[in-house]
Amino acid sequence: MAVNKKGEPVPTNAIALKDGYFGVAKTLKHKLHACCRDAEQFRKGDIVFLWVYVDAKGLKQGFVDKKRGTVPIPTQQWLSIIDEAASLGANWLVLSLQDALDKCAGVYEICQWAQCVHGMNVGLHLKGCTCPEKEEVALLRKLDRKKTKLLMHCPPGKMPLAKEIDGITVWTANPQPDGEKPKCQGAAHMIFVNEKGILYTCGLVEGKEDYRIGHVFDECLKTVLTNPKTPRKVCDDLHKVGAGCDGCPSLVTTFLPRMRRMS
Ligand code: SF4
Repeated sequence: MAVNKKGEPVPTNAIALKDGYFGVAKTLKHKLHACCRDAEQFRKGDIVFLWVYVDAKGLKQGFVDKKRGTVPIPTQQWLSIIDEAASLGANWLVLSLQDALDKCAGVYEICQWAQCVHGMNVGLHLKGCTCPEKEEVALLRKLDRKKTKLLMHCPPGKMPLAKEIDGITVWTANPQPDGEKPKCQGAAHMIFVNEKGILYTCGLVEGKEDYRIGHVFDECLKTVLTNPKTPRKVCDDLHKVGAGCDGCPSLVTTFLPRMRRMS
């Protein structure tokens, strides 16, 4: 069941109960129309990507009951964050997994929610993995394959490429060499959240206080993103491709036409 930002279960109506999981989804859709009205000031294309870090400690059942920002976010609360991002126009969800896929139990629920309820494309970025295990591919095949991409780090010096493993499209998570100025679409079209729910401008500046723009439970995302004081760009001194850009949807999708030509 989805919950609101405070961790309270979202009330269901009789139809939702009758229809089970997808009935709850329908109910939420109605709620989202209300969110959409709130999000009217966002033009189409203003927000495209939701990029989140997740880890095995967080992807569990239950709710955050400790001080916000100190513990990883559990599965149900990620569903609410996806709802809100989708209401602002996000049509891509990239999950950067710190731990092995089979240890992150909640990943499938989150991906299915994004794909089935919001029609989002999902990128699963396996950090530190250059080749998925058979079991991991088997798990991925349970998702909507047309809307699922695997993002993996490519050793330095190798050209960006796209390939397929057992029907799953694999994209290079680091299509541009370290140290260059990122040929990304910038952070303005993206919502970046780390595993504890802290919002930063983007992955490159994750953990840097100057680029911390709030917490997902502070206030609604729309308020955070439209705050004129919110840093939506990285300063030139720091703006170089690094490990923090690995898996960034704003970068990977820029290189897509090139990857496709090479596949
Ligand atoms: S993480 Fe890197 S590639 Fe992505 S928006 Fe930030 S600077 Fe650009």
